[in-house]
Amino acid sequence: VLNTSSPIADAVRAALYRKGLPFINSLNVRDLSQIRDYLQFITLALDFETIRVKHVKELFSNYNGFFKKGKEEFLLSKQTEADMRSRGWELWKVMRDIRSMTYSEVCEAICDRRAKIQVGILINDLQVADTKITSVNLNEVKYAVDNVNELHHNEEIPEEEKRGVLLVDCNNSVYIDRPVVFYLGMEQDWNKTLIGKQYIDIEDETDKNVARLNALIQQGQVRYYFVNSTKGGKQARPCMMFDLLYRKPMDSFSKMCGKLVKGRWHKEEEQQMPEDLSRGIVTDKTFNGKFSKSSFNNYYSCPRRFMYGLFLTTPEEKNSEFGTLIHSFAELYVCYPQDVEDLGLDHFVDMISDSYSGLSSPMMEGLDRAKIKQAMWTVTRYIDHLGIKDVPLDTPLSVKKHPNRFMIALGKEFTSSICEQDLESDKYPVHGQLDLFWNGLITDYKTGSPSDVKSIAEAMTPGSNVKYPEFQAPIYLSLSLEKGGYRKEFDLFYAMDNDAVSIVDDVPITSNVRYIRLSEKSIKDTIVSSEGFRSYLSVALSKNLRGNVDAIMRVIRDMASEEITSWDQDVALINNIADSLGLNRTKTNSETISKGLRKIAGCAEGGLLRYGDTLEITSGFLVSVMDYISQMHSKMVEQSREGFPALPRGRCSECPYFSVCTKGTIDDGGERGE
Ligand code: SF4
Repeated sequence: VLNTSSPIADAVRAALYRKGLPFINSLNVRDLSQIRDYLQFITLALDFETIRVKHVKELFSNYNGFFKKGKEEFLLSKQTEADMRSRGWELWKVMRDIRSMTYSEVCEAICDRRAKIQVGILINDLQVADTKITSVNLNEVKYAVDNVNELHHNEEIPEEEKRGVLLVDCNNSVYIDRPVVFYLGMEQDWNKTLIGKQYIDIEDETDKNVARLNALIQQGQVRYYFVNSTKGGKQARPCMMFDLLYRKPMDSFSKMCGKLVKGRWHKEEEQQMPEDLSRGIVTDKTFNGKFSKSSFNNYYSCPRRFMYGLFLTTPEEKNSEFGTLIHSFAELYVCYPQDVEDLGLDHFVDMISDSYSGLSSPMMEGLDRAKIKQAMWTVTRYIDHLGIKDVPLDTPLSVKKHPNRFMIALGKEFTSSICEQDLESDKYPVHGQLDLFWNGLITDYKTGSPSDVKSIAEAMTPGSNVKYPEFQAPIYLSLSLEKGGYRKEFDLFYAMDNDAVSIVDDVPITSNVRYIRLSEKSIKDTIVSSEGFRSYLSVALSKNLRGNVDAIMRVIRDMASEEITSWDQDVALINNIADSLGLNRTKTNSETISKGLRKIAGCAEGGLLRYGDTLEITSGFLVSVMDYISQMHSKMVEQSREGFPALPRGRCSECPYFSVCTKGTIDDGGERGE
């Protein structure tokens, strides 16, 4: 006895079938999984061009056809034989050719022996076996299956299946002609809804249903009641009719039965109580893996988010796929520029846009091609601009965990150690993979929206509550410092920056780059010695000052304090600057100079100097960030024994793990409650 429209019905039938136990469905044709699957298969096949793998994945597996992992978001029509296993390709071809096939041909092609009998009876009954499939006649078949009771399956079951386990619908049965009865579920899905049924006296009908249930649960000579102890993380709740039957609230099965027996799959574990209730259960197992830039970003955002990040993937399939392919293309161009030149960008766009277009709407295909080509084009320009040459092809593709897909397609066997290089720090608990490390310069390709240096600076400042913290620059700079041979520069290259104008105008590729440089001086010395900052000021300062940047810097170097925020109030400094520029010490001139000093100080904050597309990081700042990361790491190791607390810096609703996070259920209503 079970709810025949719940997934458990199919599971029971499948289990009986596997064990070779004959069974009888006292169900309607529409309830039979074989019929449902067959009709669903044809329905989806009629939309073959627009559906995605995720829509058919489960259905295919019912027919013993499988897809390779990670294909869910791709268009089904773009899949190839290599993307599937077992019968997948056979089923795919049936879907593709559905409009040229008849109902019996599809039945023959996809159904197993048992399903063939059931589907065969149905399509012969409806006289559509030799009809070519169209949306119109499919709707007629579906209508008949849903509404014509004469299609009742019991009358047609094969002789060998007339004896056996009787599957009974909990909502429509009373007397069961069997000696042993199994009751499955008995939860909320056994409720019979009467709301919205006109002309029915609800009270009367409810009484009848309760009486029916009372009789139903006492059938046979031996009875087994199978229930869940929990459902959806909560205690399983018996069907509401039991409340009426017992005339009191029955909110758990233990109230109904004094002797609950656990299934043999249930393992009894000793209950553990934490010694200190505020700290949870402490285990001996610790996790002390090093931080990558993304795992640290997660930890910084919320320790629990870090934990989820260790074993769950986020649904950012589309962006990561685009990012991965642009990174792969960049690696190819660094190693084999001649091949890219000979074959042309379109060749590579064709190669990937087939699978990439499947990730966004099919109607976006044209735009996606343009987007991919644009990103590839800017990548080639940037790499040309770096003047990379004599690249060592010293790493076999076979040792790579994710070998470059373009190189495989071109039959290459080697990549270069200057691309996708893994570095691990001995000094700090961090590791990282550098996209490109050439001639002492690190480059990271970015395929998302471009950031300005102000946001980049904020995102790497401990204590800031930005939406997307990003500590990549300090982590990578310190990794490359340890490695040696380093130019103290880290380029963030935004492949999609200036995409609207760069086709029309000849925008220099350097405008897609944000430069992060390391300065081994104090912030004041960085300000006075930076050539880049001087040229920035020679445009950004007011008319009276911009022509005299060198003179201003000389005075600052000689007499300004390290406290840069006080410069605009420092009368002696202001007067000296006025003197060195040959200006009278008037109020207006003092104000102009004070404003200029404020502007200079405004570019420098917390050990960072930012101007134009450049961010200079002082070594003091770098060391303080890396020390901070080390402290956070020790904290993380400790928390790995006690549990990672939910301490979100931002809004939980923006966290990629929001849907799985248990914070809601454990929240004590504190200030951080979402
Ligand atoms: S949902 Fe909130 S508490 Fe949970 S992991 Fe994300 S940020 Fe942390």
